[in-house]
Amino acid sequence: MFFHSRVLKMEIELYTNLQSHTFEVDKETSDFIKSQLEQGGKFDVLFPDFEPKEDEQEGYTLEIKSEGVYINDILINEDIFQEELVDYKPCDREDEIDMLFTWISECGSDRQSDKELMIEDLRYLQGLNDEWVWSNISTNEFIAKSDDEERFNEICEEILEKNSEYCGELYEKGKLDYCSNCDTYINQIDLGNGSFGCPICKRDDCIETKYDSGKEE
Ligand SMILES: [Zn+2]
Repeated sequence: MFFHSRVLKMEIELYTNLQSHTFEVDKETSDFIKSQLEQGGKFDVLFPDFEPKEDEQEGYTLEIKSEGVYINDILINEDIFQEELVDYKPCDREDEIDMLFTWISECGSDRQSDKELMIEDLRYLQGLNDEWVWSNISTNEFIAKSDDEERFNEICEEILEKNSEYCGELYEKGKLDYCSNCDTYINQIDLGNGSFGCPICKRDDCIETKYDSGKEE
C-alpha cells in the first residue's frame, strides 16, 4: 500500500480528496480508508505503522516579473546576473527563438559553423514549451526544466545560494533591507502613502534593516 506523505498532513481533506487524483492510492485503498473514516476512524489510529514518505523535492520555479527574476517567489538581486556572479541567466524562450531567427538570417557564408550551432539551439528551444529557461552566459547551453529538471534545480539552488550570500553582505552593510513577509532582500521603494516599504508586498511593517538613517525620533 502506498501513501503520499501529504495524506497525513491533510487528514480532513483526505476524506474528500481521496477519490480525486490528489493522492496516489488505488481505488480499493481509498474506498477502505473512506469507509473507516466515515465510521469515525482516525487516520493515525487506523494506520499506526504508517511512515510518511519523505517529501519529494518540489522543484524550483523560475519567473520574471516587473520587479525582476524570481526563483520560488524569492526575488534575485539584479547584480547577480548583471555582474555575472553566476554562470547562467534567465532567458525568455520565445524571445530567444525570435533572435535566433534574426541572427541565422544575418549569418554570412563565412560563419557556417556559428549558423549550424544557432540552428541547433533553435531546434532545441522550439521543441520545448517552458516560458523561461536558463542560458549559459559563456556557451550556447540552455537548461530547461521540462528537459533536465535535475540540472535546472541545481542551477536554481546555486543562484539562490549566491543571492543570499551576496544580499546578506549588502544587508549587513546597510545597503539592502530585508522583507520578512516576502523572505527577500529588497531596496525599499516609496509606497506613495508617505512611507517606504517592500516593492513586492507593498508593506512597510515587515522591513528589517541595518540602515542607520540618523533620523531623530
Ligand atoms: Zn515584502
